[in-house]
Amino acid sequence: MFKPFQTSRAITGPLYLQIRLHSTTNQPKFGFALDIDGVLIKGNRVIPQAQRALRLLNGENASGKKIPFVLLTNGGGVTEEKKAAQMSRKLDMDILPSQIVLSHSPMRSLVKKYKDTPVLVVGGRERSCKDVAEQYGFQRPIQPDDIHHWEKSVWPFRRVTDDEAYEAQKRYDFSREPIEAIMMFHDSRDWGRDLQIMMDVLRSKNGMIGTQKTDYSVQDTPVYFSNPDFLWSNEFPVPRYGQGAFKTALEAIYKRHTGKELKSTSFGKPHRATYEYAEKILTSLLPNNTPLQRVFAVGDNPAADIAGANAYGWTSILVRTGVFDGKGNSSEFPAKLVCDDIEEAVHWALNEEGLK
Ligand SMILES: [Mg+2]
Repeated sequence: MFKPFQTSRAITGPLYLQIRLHSTTNQPKFGFALDIDGVLIKGNRVIPQAQRALRLLNGENASGKKIPFVLLTNGGGVTEEKKAAQMSRKLDMDILPSQIVLSHSPMRSLVKKYKDTPVLVVGGRERSCKDVAEQYGFQRPIQPDDIHHWEKSVWPFRRVTDDEAYEAQKRYDFSREPIEAIMMFHDSRDWGRDLQIMMDVLRSKNGMIGTQKTDYSVQDTPVYFSNPDFLWSNEFPVPRYGQGAFKTALEAIYKRHTGKELKSTSFGKPHRATYEYAEKILTSLLPNNTPLQRVFAVGDNPAADIAGANAYGWTSILVRTGVFDGKGNSSEFPAKLVCDDIEEAVHWALNEEGLK
């Protein structure tokens, strides 16, 4: 019901309460970084404890305070806006784009270097990652589809579908258009073709696809990966291979062909750049000048969520609803605490901070 004269608690309450509520000294100085897959959702199913946990963070706790949180995922392939809308729908609550940190979100920092130059953007469905790259500010993202459409003999084992061909850009002539960097934004939908095309760029003279250099002592084309996960978990009983496994394949082919190790830069958990980015976002969600003193990181993947959080000095909490389902703690990357699910994790953290 619309209540035009509804007043806020701060205005109707006693003066001391108004001051208390407006004082930044009383604001929470901590926040949460929550993984999505295996913590909030599994495949397409929402983990039931997740909605209750998020309501606690959204102010439905004993203190009535909203606790800042970001959803920090090694997933991606869509813009932060799309992911926020998707998560809001699934979780039945408002999640803002500013609360979403995707695997490729920190790759915005590469725009200043590659704004106007052609870069190969690999992965994702149809042209979704090209859209993400354009939204970040890359002016000339090229997809493997574009190259495959330009010259079918690049990968003769399947044709570019009509849909892909329709989307593929005809404005490029890759015999004249040097590709300056390779950026993997999401999982490849066609490992064979994408490995071939990435190797074509890496083997080329100055990024000119179709040429071949003879001296591999210097790697001309920088390679960036957005997600180091070797495995990920969905509804299937056995974990699936992720971008980390794709990287292993590319490195093996590169080594076999050139005799050299492939040099690359990786973003996503557990890499530091991702945590620096996420902490900036969390700080921006706090009222002005409130220092962020503690971050609770909840995740299901010891090698990504727990290793990254521990290395960055966050309080790591491992849950048993995803990749990890062991009895005790992870032996390789032990978390500060292991919980059955996210609800238990949030209760524990709020208790730690005296908000229960
Ligand atoms: Mg996960």
